[in-house]
Amino acid sequence: MGKRIVIALGGNALGNNLPEQMIAVKQTSKAIADLIEEGHEVIIAHGNGPQVGMIQNAMTELTRSDPQKYIPCPLSVCVAMSQGYIGYDLQNGLREELLDRGIDKGVATVLTQVEVDPADPAFSNPTKPIGAFMTKEEADKLVAERDYNVIEDAGRGYRRVVASPRPQSIIEIDSIRDMVEAGLVVVACGGGGIPVYKTEGHHLKGAAAVIDKDFASCVLAKQVEADTLIILTAVEKVAINFGKPNEQWLDELTPEQARKYMSEGHFAPGSMLPKVQAAVEFAESAPGRSALITLLEKAKDGVAGKTGTAIHQ
Ligand code: ADP
Ligand code: MG
Repeated sequence: MGKRIVIALGGNALGNNLPEQMIAVKQTSKAIADLIEEGHEVIIAHGNGPQVGMIQNAMTELTRSDPQKYIPCPLSVCVAMSQGYIGYDLQNGLREELLDRGIDKGVATVLTQVEVDPADPAFSNPTKPIGAFMTKEEADKLVAERDYNVIEDAGRGYRRVVASPRPQSIIEIDSIRDMVEAGLVVVACGGGGIPVYKTEGHHLKGAAAVIDKDFASCVLAKQVEADTLIILTAVEKVAINFGKPNEQWLDELTPEQARKYMSEGHFAPGSMLPKVQAAVEFAESAPGRSALITLLEKAKDGVAGKTGTAIHQ
């Protein structure tokens, strides 16, 4: 029987620039279509690191060109733009791949807002560098005028750093669910979602933050009651002693084992650690749920239990 699967696409599924993305999306579409062809319901989430950086740089240059005319573009708007642009490529790529296989299924992107807690400690400890490198003078100006947080990034210049708060809930979840129930392939929570928080009444305000797509995918998978969360990345399996002579690739991982390995520091923060954390959180969220971390090209084999690291109770 078909499963309901949330797929979280990593950077290697989308490439680093416009032409790379076009090519990468073709391969990505094949991997996703394989699962749809097998009768699974698929919901797609994705990262946006290079894309949101590119958009933010472009908007910054625009402001620099005429600061009176073009006021700085909020980061939440840049995330929304990246969702639109990546969704466009994914819709196109998947549509073509499905039609080539004789599958008549709609593919639609939902611009997704994700609620964050304005009291999240991440807001007072911004860690994620984004956008263009700046001179000290430019950085000081932004700090003074816009209250931005800026760091000196490894001798290469100054960069804005933003908060990466935990996602709480998905604003458009009912629409996403309805579309999935209607048989559509949905792309949602791109780039971790547009971070927003509630202010007065029903108003949602965009936050200057970038949510981790691994955590957002976990919330999405829980909220659509998925059976499986698949995190597709640049490695076939999760390892302990990663990159060391005694490296050991893992086929299976229980939440208990994962917690032990996390406490021993086996998974790098900012890359593998959020994936394992998200996988554990999803696997523990209800009986029968499992997560899989594997390579994009191995998605089908992974679902068949042939490869990847499966995380379940
Ligand atoms: P994505 O864009 O898919 O989120 P990341 O680069 O953030 O990709 O994370 C995947 C990377 O994590 C792998 O390519 C690998 O280099 C790194 N990594 C860190 N620790 C581990 C580990 N313990 N096992 C496997 N990969 C790891
Ligand atoms: Mg990552």
